[in-house]
Amino acid sequence: MSTNIPSIPFIDLKTQYQALKGPIHERIQKVLDHGAFVNGPEVSELERALEKFTGAKHAIACANGTDALLIPLMALGIQAGDEVITTAFSFIASAEVIVLAGAKPVYVDIDLKTFNMDVSQLEKAITPKTKAIMPVSLYGQVADMDEINAIAQKHGLFVIEDAAQSFGGTYKNQKSGACSDYAGTSFFPAKPLGCYGDGGAIFTNDSKINTAMKEIREHGSEKRYYHTRVGLNARLDTLQCAILLAKLERYSWELEQRDRIAKDYHQAFQELSQYEVYTPHVKSDRISAWAQYTLRSTHRDAFQKKLTELGVPTSIHYPMIMPDQPAYQKQAGDTSHLVKARQAAQEVISIPIYPDMSEAILKQVIEKVRTAALSTKS
Ligand SMILES: *Cc1c(COP(=O)(O)O)cnc(C)c1O
Repeated sequence: MSTNIPSIPFIDLKTQYQALKGPIHERIQKVLDHGAFVNGPEVSELERALEKFTGAKHAIACANGTDALLIPLMALGIQAGDEVITTAFSFIASAEVIVLAGAKPVYVDIDLKTFNMDVSQLEKAITPKTKAIMPVSLYGQVADMDEINAIAQKHGLFVIEDAAQSFGGTYKNQKSGACSDYAGTSFFPAKPLGCYGDGGAIFTNDSKINTAMKEIREHGSEKRYYHTRVGLNARLDTLQCAILLAKLERYSWELEQRDRIAKDYHQAFQELSQYEVYTPHVKSDRISAWAQYTLRSTHRDAFQKKLTELGVPTSIHYPMIMPDQPAYQKQAGDTSHLVKARQAAQEVISIPIYPDMSEAILKQVIEKVRTAALSTKS
């Protein structure tokens, strides 16, 4: 291989920074000048921008995506003895917040084509203790929200979308975060919209719970030094809000680039099914935010090893389902129904996707993924 070919990054935040350097520096300088590093004017400016972007009635900026899911559970009064239904196949934070709220996570199997909760399995997970459903919009594709909302309404349950990976994704022309009464997203740097540290946001159409969530974000205080509930310190720094405001300007373009790259991948990798490498499926009424582009391979380890040799960085999201994690096993009970989630954990492999990917790198990734699939044919 000639040495003038640049190496392929898994994501490229440096090129994005170069493109947005002017507005980012201007925004940061403004905060340094006014000095309101906590609860500065950029916080509500960002919240209004997030409301406009998603169409949700209320947006609350908060410290990270985990708090963005924990706070709604706390505000809704989820507690010990309650059950919250979620998918088995997600980043651990989805189950973690349920346990932190004091409740028990109940896991539903997934649809292997979309990696999201299989809604045909949802209703049988409901018990008299069930209080809420927390679907995860994994890899950027919004879960089956109409079906989930209908089942929730029938049984009197809350729905909180884990939108940590799907900010900007759409479902029947609605934005992720606005497809249920409550949702939380993450602005961790590697998420589709990332800040320069930890960050997150909560979305809700429920004005009463919105007030409660704003209080919980700030130590449960209704006014200064008067605490009507137990809360957290879960504010988002003004500097992070300023950075997100600058990045939001270009975000629609970024989403288009991610979707364009995913479509090129889809076309190029369709025929790899004969080598047991399968492309992800996005339902026709949705546009994914493409947090990850995740293939499935029945011989994943050999496939990944070959890709590494060829210089294509990959990642496994996630190698173990949540109820199999040591800290979660005991509470999980019988998990023998989670067949497809376990299969996904054995077969998934994410390849590079980011908005500033050059045509040359895109071509290289496509070529090398095909080479790896062919050479590791089972
Ligand atoms: C990243 C992530 C979270 C947590 O977000 P943080 O900002 O890292 O706290 C929650 N759920 C899912 C599915 C995630 O991918």
